[in-house]
Amino acid sequence: MSDTIFHKIIRREIPAEILHETDDLVAIRDINPQAPTHILIIPKRTIPQLTDLVPEDGAIVGKLVLAAKLLAESEGIAEAGYRLVFNCGQDGQQTVPQLHLHLLGGRSFHWPPG
Ligand code: 5GP
Repeated sequence: MSDTIFHKIIRREIPAEILHETDDLVAIRDINPQAPTHILIIPKRTIPQLTDLVPEDGAIVGKLVLAAKLLAESEGIAEAGYRLVFNCGQDGQQTVPQLHLHLLGGRSFHWPPG
């Protein structure tokens, strides 16, 4: 079984600031924030990256996005706007091989991202 730093956080083997948790997912503050608000929303079930998704994963992907929407509201960044990012694989600069959605806000972002 794939075991990443996020699996260890989910099992409470290493500490993290957990902001939200359900049976399916956990949301933590990023240890190296790239914006005033930088939250990671992570499924509890092992899914290494976007390329591993199958049609049955539609529900969990929807739950990640809906959790991000609610967290943006509770963080007070919903009105100004924010960015959601899934990095995937080498070119996507994914560093932790467990699917996670970045919620970034509290500042303005560039487009295209570079
Ligand atoms: P990726 O580059 O894979 O899309 O994003 C991984 C994210 O996980 C990075 O933003 C990185 O700062 C964050 N991260 C890595 N290790 C830890 C950790 O131990 N705790 C927390 N809270 N975030 C981590």
